[in-house]
Formats: sequence, C-alpha cells, structure tokens
Amino acid sequence: MKRGAGCERLVVVLGDQLDIDAPLIGGLDAKRDVVLMMEVVEESRHVPSHKQRTVLFLSAMRHFAEELRERGVRVRYIALDDPENTGSFDGEVTRAVGELSPKRMALTIPGEHRVHAMARGWGKTHDVDVEVMPDGHFLTSPEEFEEWAAGKKEIVMEFFYRWQRKRLGILVDDDGKPEGGAWNYDEENREAFKAAPRIKAPKQFKADAITREVIATAERVLPDLPGNVDAETWRWPVTRADAVAAFNDFIEHRLAKFGVYEDAMWTNVPFAYHSLMSAAMNLKLIGPREMWPRVVEAYRKGRVPLNSAEGFIRQIIGWREFIRGVYWREGPGYEKRNGLKQKGKLPWFYWTGETPMNCLRECIGQVREHGFGHHIQRLMVTGNFALIAGVHPKAVSDWYLGMYVDGVDWVTLPNTLGMSQHADGGVVGTKPYAASAKYIRRMSNYCDGCTFDPDKRTGEGACPFNTFYWDFLIRHRETFRGNHRMAMMLKNVDRMKEEERVAITVRGRELRKEMGIA
Ligand code: SF4
Repeated sequence: MKRGAGCERLVVVLGDQLDIDAPLIGGLDAKRDVVLMMEVVEESRHVPSHKQRTVLFLSAMRHFAEELRERGVRVRYIALDDPENTGSFDGEVTRAVGELSPKRMALTIPGEHRVHAMARGWGKTHDVDVEVMPDGHFLTSPEEFEEWAAGKKEIVMEFFYRWQRKRLGILVDDDGKPEGGAWNYDEENREAFKAAPRIKAPKQFKADAITREVIATAERVLPDLPGNVDAETWRWPVTRADAVAAFNDFIEHRLAKFGVYEDAMWTNVPFAYHSLMSAAMNLKLIGPREMWPRVVEAYRKGRVPLNSAEGFIRQIIGWREFIRGVYWREGPGYEKRNGLKQKGKLPWFYWTGETPMNCLRECIGQVREHGFGHHIQRLMVTGNFALIAGVHPKAVSDWYLGMYVDGVDWVTLPNTLGMSQHADGGVVGTKPYAASAKYIRRMSNYCDGCTFDPDKRTGEGACPFNTFYWDFLIRHRETFRGNHRMAMMLKNVDRMKEEERVAITVRGRELRKEMGIA
C-alpha cells in the first residue's frame, strides 16, 4: 500500500483473527477500506513467547495479508523490523490514523480482555466511530453461553457439552438421545501404551520463503525469546489450505486411535494420536463448524470408532467453547484469582528443561523443541507439578500462554488458572487436578529409569511428585475439608502418623528452596 493514501474506514485485523470468511473480511471495500495488520514486539514480550509461537503468528499473518492483497484489498502491514514500528498496537493505530485520517474504524472483537480494553479506547483517543463485530468463528456466542449458564449453581462442562450436542444435532437421534447410548466414552479412552507406539508422523509443513524470512527477522529482533525454531524442521500450518490439509491428515491417520490413547504418554512420542489442530484453530485458519461434520462423516463411513469421533468432537464443540464461555463470563478480573493463595515462583527448569525428573524433562524438553504438549502432559505433568509445588497460578498461566504454539489468553487462562491450578474457586473444576507419581507411572513410561523412586514419598530418592502431592494435601487440608470429591484423599492424610506429616512438610519446604520456588 502506498503510504500517504487516505481511507474512509480503517479495519484492524489482529494476529488471531485470520478467518478469510469472517463477515468483516467479506464486507471489505477495496476503495473505501484499508486493513491494518501489525507485528509488534509488545505481543511477544508481555509474556515471554516461544520462538515458534511468535513465528507462527507472524508467518500466518503475512500469508493472510498476501491473500487479502490478491483479492485487491489495500493492506497497511507493519513488519516487526519496520524502522518506524512503535512496538505496540496503540502506537501503530495512532500512526495509521495520523497518516490515513479514517472517518471510521472496524474490527472483530479481540479474543483477549487486554486487547479488547485497548481497542475500546481507540474511538475516544482518535475521535472516530469504532465498530466492533462479533466473532463468528465459535459455535456459541458469549450471550448464548450466558443464557445456558444463567441461574445454575455451578456450571459443568459435561452438561454444557450435552446441551451443545442436542442444540446442534451432533451425534444425537431425533429424541435428543446420544448416538451409541452414552454421552461420553471416557472409560474406553484411558488406555496407556504398552510399548513404544508406531504412529505415522503428523503431516509437516515446510517453511516457505515467507516463514523463512519471519524466522530470520524474529531471530534478529527478538533473539532472547525462549524455545527453539529452525526453518529446516518447521512443521506448523500457516495458511488455511495447510490447516485443512493438516486436518485431513489427522482424520486419515490418527483420529481412529485418538480416543483410546488420548491420555497416553511415552518418551520421544511428542504428538501421539493428537490432532495438533489447536494452533490453526486459535488463529482462525480453520473452525469447529467445518470440522465436526468431517469427524461425524468419518464415523458414519466406518473409518473411525464412535469413542474416537465423540472424544474429538467433545474437545472442539464442548471443552473449547466452554472455556471461552467462562473467559467472557468471568471477565478481566479472572486473571487475578488465586483461590489457594499459592505464592511460589516458577522453577527455572520450566525454561531450560534441565531437571533430573524424567517426566518433566521430557514434557518441558518437548515444549522447548516443538512448542507443544498434549492435554495430559499439560494437565498431569507440568500443570500438576506447579500446582502441588505451590507455584503462583499467574506465573504458571503466563508460562502456558507464551510457551505453547496454541497459547491465546481466552484458552490459557481458564484452562490453566481455572482447571489446572484450581485458582478460580471451582468455576472450571470442582476439584484440583493434583496427582502423585502413581498417575504418571500408569499413563507413561517416564518413570522407567528415572533417578527418583515413584513408590517413595520421603527419604532418599523419593519422587518429588509424591512429596509435593502429600504436602499439597496437608497444606490445603482445611480448604478442601467440605469438598466431597476430595474426601478419600483427605482421609489418607488424616490416617498418616503426625511424624510422617511433619517429615513431608519439612521435605516439601526443602524441595521448594532447592528448586527456587520458595
Ligand atoms: Fe516423574 Fe517421579 Fe516418575 Fe521420575 S519417578 S518420572 S519424577 S513421576
């Protein structure tokens, strides 16, 4: 776009709004409108953002801008290394308004409260009307979620999911009964691998010229970001066409066994049968509306079993939409919640992966290498450890937001702060996901050959997961006293001899100091 040419309407498209079919994009007028897209340092620095996450956002944005230009749309694209780049959304909007003198502005509602608050200020600051369009990418609007949640004593994902299935007519019969007779097949979906699984690797998308240029720019402008990135091993889809191809690859090669092994973990098996679609979905390159029918079709044609089809559909129409509903319902104050009053720092090894604990080394190493971990690695290894060790929930949540390629605020906050760290007072989950080494040993091979003994909770070689698990229950014994889902666990704490409780508490304190948590 030629600098200096003015416009009637300035349309802001953010990095996670790359939906070519969005009404705002469909309604663009080549003569009247200019689309503003901004690569700003602030977005990679407000929490330290993994190199692959940063490159993924920027490369997908540049590809999207190309597509708009091919359609004749005027695009004002601010690159990360533009010498005049102010480094922030506010700064770039101010510069664009100053140069283009638009009468109006428009954007799709930002997915993050922080950016939403910024955007709300643009109209007043620049004395222009700002039209904020709803985000049609999701199946459930915040208003519809509110309608469902209103008046309920507690909101439960399972009931939201059933409501979604019925109202959208997904895998239900004419009477609203679930296909196969059950709403979920969780019992069938908890298998562990018995040996190293042989799984066809997910389709990898080679870095093209745009992605290579972004990698070089990011390495130059933001060299200190965490994680690894390498043009030769790049894998993530950065266009809508790639996202569709990635989804086809999942349906073809991994969906059939996704259900049964969705919780399984194994050394050097970073992706297992998972779809890896969350990043492309969160950038809006592909959406649930087009995805669930493809899964139902694969099931109807007998290519995948019901437990896998249902398990995947649950993720994209149930869990994902529920989490977004909670984010908007709870509002901007949600990020400050710390229901368990945990104050610890995030251990340094969450950044380096250097720890003798096999499970954490494996899961964190994988995050550094790929910017990815599947839901059980996140919930039951890295999340669980931070919870039972007493780390501040916002420190954990910020780590998840920056270190995973699919990290966006509306997903990360309720998932981490709410579900994983139980910091929201039980809005997302009625009990904390606290577990000892027993769970990790059952669902993975990580404990084989680990320095620590998964059977010991104190003394020489005791697994820190065990010490912290019991220490967590001892510390929060009274908080959970009235929670019937915690009754069994607390009974075990009550049965312990006082000396053992003291020994665990003392060892817990020592460990927190050794790991830099306290
Ligand atoms: Fe992790 Fe403990 Fe098992 Fe080692 S023994 S892999 S630290 S759970």
